[in-house]
Amino acid sequence: MAMNSQILLARRPQGAPVAEDFRLVETPLPEPGPGEVLVRHRFLSLDPYQRGRMDDAKSYAKPVAVGGVMECQAVGQVAASRDPAFKEGDWVLGGFGWQGFSARPAKALIALDPKEAPPSTALGVLGMPGLTAWVGLEDIGQPKVGETVVVSAASGAVGQVVGQLAKIRGARVVGIAGGGAKCAFVTDTLGFDAAVDHRGDLDAQLDAACPEGVDVYWENVGGAVQAAVFPRFRDFGRMVMCGMVAQYNTASGAAAAGAPAGPNLGPVVRKRLRIQGFIVNDTGWPRYGQFRAEMLGHIAAGRMVWREDVAQGLEAAPAAFIGMLAGRNFGKQLVSLP
Ligand code: NDP
Repeated sequence: MAMNSQILLARRPQGAPVAEDFRLVETPLPEPGPGEVLVRHRFLSLDPYQRGRMDDAKSYAKPVAVGGVMECQAVGQVAASRDPAFKEGDWVLGGFGWQGFSARPAKALIALDPKEAPPSTALGVLGMPGLTAWVGLEDIGQPKVGETVVVSAASGAVGQVVGQLAKIRGARVVGIAGGGAKCAFVTDTLGFDAAVDHRGDLDAQLDAACPEGVDVYWENVGGAVQAAVFPRFRDFGRMVMCGMVAQYNTASGAAAAGAPAGPNLGPVVRKRLRIQGFIVNDTGWPRYGQFRAEMLGHIAAGRMVWREDVAQGLEAAPAAFIGMLAGRNFGKQLVSLP
């Protein structure tokens, strides 16, 4: 009998996830019913939000049940179709989960054109992370010509798009990343104006990179990085609260033990700052068409590049996910399936 490999949530993590929190199982290949399509997954998307789904905590989305398949978006190819809208070999995007195959209603799938862009980009620069960057800058960051934009996790899936879009809008962009190779990528390949290595002396590097202060801070990590950037806001600065991945492994989401206390928020009033959180699902997807058209234009004109970090095989997914939360990914974290 043909089998499907799946990675389940074996138990809820205590702190940082470990390999034992996941379980690889083999189950019978699902049969597509009428109006359904069997999809063979080719790339899975690993994203920091999946850490939140592993906890049984109140959030904007339901947790994965213990024993359930880990959630993710993925792209794949139609292996069998019982709906006229799709034929074998078509590329599709969907919320397929950490597994090799799934059977889904045709209506739940988004068709991809591999001639327009490589299918994996539907999970990164042209997908949810890219849309997150675009919508957060459009609605909250709104960088203007000559302003200084600082973005943390700058070489990651969201950060690399944030910085490039801010450059296109004429801002001066400073990326914060972990280690020399990521910092070099941020300036040399992505074209940011300066890079700050958060493993070094943050204050000294930020003084040098942002002598006039910060107009827009795109927050991806929290913790020590947030504490260092926050006092540097100029009047009328905007803080785009996208995520705080450095704090996802603590039970309360608060700063980890030993991390510096959060910033003093007193200057929010004195400097008339705007701090706003957002979830891409709120307002992003209805504008996906506009985002995609703009991004394809930037790609065609050579204004937008991207980097992917591709782990090989479903069994590599837990280690790649654990590594991403610890900063070992270099670019958008994907898993490639044969
Ligand atoms: P990334 O590809 O940026 O991967 C995570 C990165 O976080 C790591 O590579 C690492 O980069 C950095 N990091 C991890 N721990 C620390 C730490 N302790 N201190 C500093 N940096 C750390 O992930 P994404 O681009 O997919 O996601 C970035 C952020 O955006 C996350 O917070 C995520 O939850 C959020 N997000 C929010 C959305 C929304 O709708 N609000 C939608 C999508 C993402 P480095 O080595 O450079 O430190």
